[in-house]
Amino acid sequence: MRSVHHWIDGKEAPGKSGRTADVYNPATGEVQAKVDLASKAEMDAAIARAAEAQVGWGATNPQRRARVMMKMVDLLNRDMDKMAEVLSSEHGKTFPDAKGDIQRGLEVIEYSIGAPQLLKGEFIDGAGPGIDMYSMRQPLGVVAAITPFNFPAMIPLWKLGPALASGNAVILKPSERDPTVPNMIAALFKEAGLPDGVLQVVHGDKEAVDAILDSEVIQAVGFVGSTPIAQYIYERAAATGKRAQCFGGAKNHAIIMPDADLDQAADALVGAAYGAAGERCMALSVAVPVGEETADRLIEKLVPRIEKLKVGPYTAGDDVDFGPVVTAAAKKNILRLVETGVEQGAKLVVDGRDFSLQGYEDGFFVGPSLFDHATPDMDIYKTEIFGPVLTTIRAKTYDEALKLAMDHEYGNGTAIFTRDGDTARDFASRCNIGMVGINVPIPVPLAYFTFGGWKKSGFGDLNQHGPDAFRFYTRTKTVTSRWPSGIKEGAAFNFKAMD
Ligand code: NAD
Repeated sequence: MRSVHHWIDGKEAPGKSGRTADVYNPATGEVQAKVDLASKAEMDAAIARAAEAQVGWGATNPQRRARVMMKMVDLLNRDMDKMAEVLSSEHGKTFPDAKGDIQRGLEVIEYSIGAPQLLKGEFIDGAGPGIDMYSMRQPLGVVAAITPFNFPAMIPLWKLGPALASGNAVILKPSERDPTVPNMIAALFKEAGLPDGVLQVVHGDKEAVDAILDSEVIQAVGFVGSTPIAQYIYERAAATGKRAQCFGGAKNHAIIMPDADLDQAADALVGAAYGAAGERCMALSVAVPVGEETADRLIEKLVPRIEKLKVGPYTAGDDVDFGPVVTAAAKKNILRLVETGVEQGAKLVVDGRDFSLQGYEDGFFVGPSLFDHATPDMDIYKTEIFGPVLTTIRAKTYDEALKLAMDHEYGNGTAIFTRDGDTARDFASRCNIGMVGINVPIPVPLAYFTFGGWKKSGFGDLNQHGPDAFRFYTRTKTVTSRWPSGIKEGAAFNFKAMD
């Protein structure tokens, strides 16, 4: 049985706690590896070593740090296929989708090459008589990243690029469900020239996370995962005075207006609802057609598209649309929620519950399901299903559709399909949701913009990647200086204006 160890001080380090977790191949249902789970003592030791290593790294000039990022871009491109293969085998997503996972992370490493420019402070001369004032951005020290299973390359890279390029050391605590790719990323960073100890990958569960949260050394926590854990981490990190940005779950609405190109909308919905088996925080999981006629026509167009979807293992070739979900527990939860939808009176137009794949009967496959006539009180509407299920809730008017999206507790992403610029503009301006697509189904901003949801989808005040990430991973120091020039004013006891 393969073991996945921690990555400490530039090399693999077997765990000492005696605790491990199973890593599955979701397509076959087999356990393919055991990942070490760190104890508090192991986590504390990894943090202490990171703090030592950070001193030199923080003092390395930003351009040299940026060169590590440059080299990292080459290495990620070099090893893309190898990493994607491992990623697919532990996560279950298709091979092209696994490459997309790495690519979207790589783009943030490319952005982080701009660290010298992004870290420049501000300066004004002559703020008062002989007085100059300047601000600088300095690294925080040791920071932590706690990441989810659904993007095992992208989300760690979103954290590592800006945090490391800013001069911090990082403790990465990846998801224990697909832990191998984060180790591969750490090995590549070493090859790219990152000094040992500056990036420590410590695998684990709640015990390891709590050790991060209670550490006096860790200065900031970047978390991505489900909302209850995001809120827990935000609160516990704040209790020890840490900076925290914690991104949570989602229930992304697509509003389909009567004037939309319904073929385009149906294609977009199918890709965004069922891609990666719906295990994306930007999945469109709710369709809100406006008007009965739009709804009827949309369902008519969706059904044959959904029935044609090819579900299979990543090894079955590039025409597979989506793979299995991550664990047997995830599968069970999705099927349970579909069941509640039926019980609570929604119409199950496409039923994926009995899906089974010959030769892969033990895999965690779930067929695609489509609900129509859902209502806001139903569990399938209120809960993030995180599976291949699209729920349709019909609205009579645009305002009713907007209100549905706005009243939902999650506010990660949304999309509107329309040919009317005025409606699209109104929607983008008024909705209380962090990322908006206009005729674009998964509006994931590019690396040089920022990514983050509102409401229960995000706790904290700065987003991921883009300029916000460099603000999150640095703190500002402002210096007011005056060099002796013969001015002798005597002591001042009031707040002085600089005149
Ligand atoms: P999760 O919350 O179960 O796990 C995320 C991380 O928290 C993992 O590293 C895990 O080990 C740790 N963790 C789990 N339980 C914990 C506990 N009780 N105490 C301390 N730490 C704990 O999430 P997941 O299932 O890995 O990922 C899926 C979720 O992530 C979905 O809700 C999805 O919407 C969300 N997500 C959000 C974004 C975003 O940017 N908003 C992006 C990707 C995924």
